[in-house]
Amino acid sequence: MIDGDTFVDADGRKIRLLAIDTPEKGEPYYEEAKDELKRIIDDRRLRFEFGSESNDRYGRLLAFVFADDSIFVNARLLEEGLGRAYFFEENMLESPYADRLCQSQKVALHAGRKIWSLEKPRAETRYFGNPHTLRFHRPSCNSVERSDTTSLLRSTNRDYFLEQCYSPCRNCKP
Ligand SMILES: [Zn+2]
Repeated sequence: MIDGDTFVDADGRKIRLLAIDTPEKGEPYYEEAKDELKRIIDDRRLRFEFGSESNDRYGRLLAFVFADDSIFVNARLLEEGLGRAYFFEENMLESPYADRLCQSQKVALHAGRKIWSLEKPRAETRYFGNPHTLRFHRPSCNSVERSDTTSLLRSTNRDYFLEQCYSPCRNCKP
């Protein structure tokens, strides 16, 4: 067991849960996410569906994981508020599981579960979302200033982007 979104399977392969991010070591709910992943997958038969690019740059296999065929592990962690959706490429929206993952994040977000109960970043009066990168930004972010703003989605509501599985930009941290 490594953390909330990575584990070693019975064949010794390193599996990274696709399309989600769980808290890093030192962040709130890191231990909870790790323990929960272990609890969900232990002693269960696992089935993997690999993404279009199955290996990441750390040599991990990126996968949607199903436990006993009944539990969609990636979505379960989102639904419990122990991770956030992380769609790193536009074509992930075409995945048959995209809606399910967004729905799971939405449920946790609106219920204020775990990571969604933490203090929110300083609010903006509007946000910009890039439909190609699936990231959203503060208006002052370099990525917004560099973009043709007509190609960006805008909303006064941060949740609007989170509900669609956009991730907060790592630079401007909206
Ligand atoms: Zn940004």
